[in-house]
Amino acid sequence: MSAEVELLEGAPVALGGLRGMEVVRTLPSKQRRMVGAWCFLDAYGPHDVTRSAGMRVGPHPHTGLQTVSWLVRGEILHRDSLGSRQEIRPGQLNLMTAGRGISHSEETPAVHSAVLHGVQLWVALPGSDRDVAPAFTHHADLPVLTDGGLTATVLMGELAGAASPARCYTPMVGAEITVAAGSVARLPLRPEFEYAVLLLNGAATVADVPVAPGPLLYLGDGRSSLSLTAGPPSRLMLLGGEPFEERIVMWWNFVGRDHEEIVAARQGWAAGGRFGEVRGYDGPSIPAPPMPISRLVPRGRVR
Ligand code: MN
Repeated sequence: MSAEVELLEGAPVALGGLRGMEVVRTLPSKQRRMVGAWCFLDAYGPHDVTRSAGMRVGPHPHTGLQTVSWLVRGEILHRDSLGSRQEIRPGQLNLMTAGRGISHSEETPAVHSAVLHGVQLWVALPGSDRDVAPAFTHHADLPVLTDGGLTATVLMGELAGAASPARCYTPMVGAEITVAAGSVARLPLRPEFEYAVLLLNGAATVADVPVAPGPLLYLGDGRSSLSLTAGPPSRLMLLGGEPFEERIVMWWNFVGRDHEEIVAARQGWAAGGRFGEVRGYDGPSIPAPPMPISRLVPRGRVR
């Protein structure tokens, strides 16, 4: 078994500007950029959204990745340049494949619950598929596994023989797992995958490491199973996949392979046209930040 276990501390980020909603970003982290093809992980809440605007992320572009939206509580309304308009609720997946280019907005809908709690993830597309046509799919009926006090909903990829209908481009898994209070559970893993766990609520011991909401526990590869012990009822995200060996450039909302590609995507957003138009969002689009002075360099999964 691989001995590498790391607790990746998250950094607080104001989503949608200084007055935006606070999120905790654990990927990319100081130590690691990726877990399998998972290259970005923001967790937010639980936030009381009765007296705030909640989530307000205006139209912005993406390339070379998939966005995975998952909620524990509350609602988010997604709109994109393909004309999609889709609200998600807990237990449902919104999957957007940017491919060669798409733009979207995400907001707390006018009629909503008091609390918003969820995660937003990105999956890097492999070089062979990074220019696919953009697509959006909503999955309200995902496979659920139960074993004693454990319940697992498979969002992406496959876990213990249960496969998500969502389209993946590299071997991977993303699952939400709940463990009943005081339960001990064991999940089958694939030794060729690397894995990480993010606790969403409760308190649990994962592979003999006590975890609380906040940091991402990186578990390495070489494991054929994972032990989970819950104190109070606990909910966690399991992320995994074959280590992503391609070097990528991740800048703002773009995943590319070199500096020129990012410059072209940025210019395409500034000029309009390439990323289509998001209709119905009541607010401005988000401009790209200025390019850094130095050239962007492709980077690997580990720092
Ligand atoms: Mn986005």
